[in-house]
Amino acid sequence: MATIFSQIISGEIPSDIVFRDDRVTAFRDINPSAPTHILIVPNKEIATVDDVTGEDEALLGHMIVVAKDIARKEGISESGYRLIINCKSDGGQEIFHLHMHLLGGKRLGPMLAK
Ligand code: AMP
Repeated sequence: MATIFSQIISGEIPSDIVFRDDRVTAFRDINPSAPTHILIVPNKEIATVDDVTGEDEALLGHMIVVAKDIARKEGISESGYRLIINCKSDGGQEIFHLHMHLLGGKRLGPMLAK
């Protein structure tokens, strides 16, 4: 069954899409943790970072280039931002379709709660 992110990518489920091309789709997180909170998602379903193969290297690099371009459009390039990819249960991954969080627009504080 298609993941909820695949349903967003195909247009079955509405979302606030900020960028798309033949490899990735980026849309605003439905429950934002920061003023800018955007998810950059490969159009191809990869469940987790643990499922990435050598064939995905260029795709993953592309995700970072897209994140950087979106950050610039969002006006957070100068103040800075954080990119996060959660993996599986200890990593806090909820949706098993690999995605990168782009977070910014405020001081994000320490990387991890202690
Ligand atoms: P993760 O915990 O890394 O798997 O993150 C999943 C993220 O997806 C969470 O930040 C959710 O708020 C977000 N999310 C879940 N459903 C949707 C949706 N329909 N549209 C946008 N973001 C979503």
